[in-house]
Amino acid sequence: MSETTKQDEKQVWVTESLHDHYAQRLRVDEMLYDSETEHQRLKVFQNGTFGRILTLDDVVQTTEGDNFIYHEMLTHVPILAHGSAKRVLIIGGGDGGMAREALRHRTVEHVTMVEIDAGVVDFSKEYLPMLSQGAFDDPRLNLVINDGALFMKETTEKFDVIIVDSTDPIGPGEVLFTDTFYGHAARALTEDGIIVTQNGVPFMQGDELTGTLRAFQALFADASCYLATIPTYAGGPMAFGWGSHSSTNRSVSLTDLEARFAAAGFETNYYTPEVHKAAFALPGYVQKLFP
Ligand code: SAM
Repeated sequence: MSETTKQDEKQVWVTESLHDHYAQRLRVDEMLYDSETEHQRLKVFQNGTFGRILTLDDVVQTTEGDNFIYHEMLTHVPILAHGSAKRVLIIGGGDGGMAREALRHRTVEHVTMVEIDAGVVDFSKEYLPMLSQGAFDDPRLNLVINDGALFMKETTEKFDVIIVDSTDPIGPGEVLFTDTFYGHAARALTEDGIIVTQNGVPFMQGDELTGTLRAFQALFADASCYLATIPTYAGGPMAFGWGSHSSTNRSVSLTDLEARFAAAGFETNYYTPEVHKAAFALPGYVQKLFP
């Protein structure tokens, strides 16, 4: 048990409240914003290791330091696997990081982002501009403030790629992990469309992944998941759900991916065509979560 020094007592820490028996602590070097929005308690604070951090209801959403891993893997994997994605839908993603990466694809003509909480967008623009990097001003972006489940139920639009960048299945995010929501999403995808989902850390949140995979197996020609480790999503690698009406998108060759990535013409800090392919190689404990 570490000794608490006087200096420690002056320090402020945020303890994440996501798991019952396991928690991470993040030191607050400066609290930049802390208040309730219409839907959630929003905090933005400076941390010596990860830079600026956004939490909602004391759960880490994104950080300046490690967001690139999450945002690159949830955008470039489906968009490059598809090969000719023009219309992308983001559900959630209020910090703007997902739109940032999706809009790097010049071939993407239209991105609709449906975020339930205008406060997350406003405070991310103000305190986390390095996340969106101007994405909110891109003429291809259509920002909709609405419940993603309602939008999905009512939309008549079709999308090549749907990215669910939501909070965990607690509070406003719960409805985004339901069979009803996934059914509406399947209807809104083009015939070779792909949906990918933030699906938690399987070592800690296995049931969440199993539930999504069960729904995807019933709705799509191809259902699986892929992994990447994001340091501030504590508990091991994070899983991204994968559902596609096409049975060939996931087996795209490394050579084709390399050609598509080269043609896209931008640099990344995590994503590579090799990492893309390897991310679908699943360890035994994750394979055992498939229904
Ligand atoms: N990467 C984060 C994670 O893995 O937990 C998610 C980041 S992103 C900020 C999550 C966003 O989902 C939040 O801005 C939240 O307001 C939004 N959200 C939650 N429930 C929603 C819903 N039903 N419809 C649309 N957006 C929702």
